[in-house]
Amino acid sequence: MSKRGLLVVYAGASGVGKGTIMKKLLAEDPNIRLSVSATTRAPREGEADGREYYFITREKFEELIANDGFLEHAEYVGNCYGTPKEPVFRMLAEGYDVFLEIELKGFLQIKKACPECLSIFIVPPSFEELQARLEGRGTETPEVIAARLKTAREELEHHHLFDYVVVNDDVDRAAKEVLSIVSDRKKQMV
Ligand code: 5GP
Repeated sequence: MSKRGLLVVYAGASGVGKGTIMKKLLAEDPNIRLSVSATTRAPREGEADGREYYFITREKFEELIANDGFLEHAEYVGNCYGTPKEPVFRMLAEGYDVFLEIELKGFLQIKKACPECLSIFIVPPSFEELQARLEGRGTETPEVIAARLKTAREELEHHHLFDYVVVNDDVDRAAKEVLSIVSDRKKQMV
């Protein structure tokens, strides 16, 4: 594998099913890698440090910002999230297609620094469905769910900034659509 990989911004509202689609992408395309972000958010049940996220303190997060350790970083509903720079550069150089599962403000930073990146926005079939999914997940308090839904509405208004919008009406179908978008972009790169 000698060719440089593709940088993919993979965004979408909290609870839209990005993680479930991502699992399928990773299972179906061995050339895809997911960047593991750092966050100051507390781990949810079942999340492991270094797998879903690097769970770090705000002090450590600020130290990483000061040392230019992030490709992008943003605050989302009271917590900080950032993409560690070094692993992304390394994986791209190794030829992998690297997915950044990030929110809107992070995407805008990446788009500015790397306009040729591929950006995909996952949306729910309806806003009501998103609300039902977030509530059904049961991992957040009603206040946090309300704040996440408000942010989701704001993010949805910016869908036009992304190269592609994929509706998660069915996980298998949505995963196939993402894989075909990636494959088409790679053909253009040859
Ligand atoms: P959650 O707390 O539900 O895991 O993530 C909240 C939001 O932060 C999601 O939209 C997720 O995609 C986003 N996010 C996760 N990691 C990063 C990151 O490194 N940078 C940015 N900007 N957003 C992130």
